[in-house]
Amino acid sequence: MSGKIAVIGAGPAGSHLSYLLSKNGRDVTVFELKSPHKKKPCAGGLTYKLFSDTDIPEDLPIPARRVRYSRIVSWDDTYVDITLQHPVTVVTRKDFDRYLLGRSLKFGTRLINSRVKSVERAGNGWVVSAGATSEQYDFIIGADGIKSLVRNTVSVKFRTCEFYKACGYYVKELGEDKIVIKFFHGFHGYAWVFPGIEYASAGICGTGDKYRTPHLKAKLAEFLMRYYSKDQLKNKSPFSWFIPSMPLVNFNRLEIAGKNWALAGDAAGLADPITGEGIYYAISSAEILATCLLANTMEVYPSMIYERFGQNLSRAAFLKNMFFAPGFIENTVILARAGPAMQAVLSDLYSGSQDYISLKRRIVRSVLPCMKDVLCTKKWRNLGRAFGNVTQIATKFRPW
Ligand SMILES: Cc1cc2nc3c(=O)[nH]c(=O)nc-3n(C[C@H](O)[C@H](O)[C@H](O)COP(=O)(O)OP(=O)(O)OC[C@H]3O[C@@H](n4cnc5c(N)ncnc54)[C@H](O)[C@@H]3O)c2cc1C
Repeated sequence: MSGKIAVIGAGPAGSHLSYLLSKNGRDVTVFELKSPHKKKPCAGGLTYKLFSDTDIPEDLPIPARRVRYSRIVSWDDTYVDITLQHPVTVVTRKDFDRYLLGRSLKFGTRLINSRVKSVERAGNGWVVSAGATSEQYDFIIGADGIKSLVRNTVSVKFRTCEFYKACGYYVKELGEDKIVIKFFHGFHGYAWVFPGIEYASAGICGTGDKYRTPHLKAKLAEFLMRYYSKDQLKNKSPFSWFIPSMPLVNFNRLEIAGKNWALAGDAAGLADPITGEGIYYAISSAEILATCLLANTMEVYPSMIYERFGQNLSRAAFLKNMFFAPGFIENTVILARAGPAMQAVLSDLYSGSQDYISLKRRIVRSVLPCMKDVLCTKKWRNLGRAFGNVTQIATKFRPW
């Protein structure tokens, strides 16, 4: 691809993509509607696989906090504290996005700080209109997030069952040094507290077609009031946004590229359907897209996405209902409290070194060590329950 390329959106997907293209001599313009000083509704958690699988350096030249512990709280308030073998790196999205965009601008990317109002086909290319100007491009890339104008113009809109609604607060005084994840009985989603650089993020997400925002806010308030004092919760500022959470089988059928257009990151629906982690997928999809554009092999972009992580996300979508069904988290917490075998599985899930495809095999392999852990705690009444659960988990993970 050698013509003029327009990238709509300077989030992680758009900035990383334009960096890779400009570095290789392509003529790239990035459109971004937000000022670089504006906060983004994101907890800013970067997992280990981002640094191990992509070219983002672990020693980021921006303030970053390494979080080494996590508390997982089941609906009945039983919890387990786990030590993360690979810490989660927490950054502010303002710094991270600015860093990525800055790298791209150094290689000659042109930035237009304006909202794109429309993209229209013109011959073999596109006319992109932003502010008072309209310009002609040969190729357009929608890296404009979950409300993507490009996606809505060239492909299909997200349905409410294809995203999480997320809302919550940035809070100054929570003083946590661990990531807290709280589950609720029969609730398809979870609440979180993420320690941050300037503030903590305390939020909740739930499947878009099941929950309305007031419902989510009430659940979050109930959780926060139980764990934190009024004083800690003062000075909070609200946020609400959406995260892709695609249901089953969609990952090998995603309409993410066509004649002279492509989508990346959230705009393409690429985020973990269970956890909502999206930064890794934004960066990874940008890398795959850059490779395809530079090699003129755009026809293989969707299949490369599927091979690199789409299969894994499909598996996550398949497991989502089971994951949030009553019993799964409670018993996982019981097993993790008993000892290191289940804690290691959870730690690896966090970092991404445990994928969803081989999770069943890993859990089946962990049955005996988990049972040994439970026996060592001498909490016999937990044994029957935990054993029942491990068997249940193993049988529900169909197919292998
Ligand atoms: C509350 C919350 C917490 C989250 N926490 C985490 C986390 O801890 N870790 C993690 O990995 N993921 C997290 N995510 C998901 C993550 O934020 C996204 O998956 C990620 O930002 C996707 O990057 P992107 O570049 O595809 O899109 P975005 O980051 O959304 O970037 C899109 C960009 O396009 C711009 N834009 C949109 N429309 C236009 C237009 N018409 N013209 C010009 N510019 C436009 C936007 O201003 C934006 O800058 C969270 C999401 C939410 C909502």
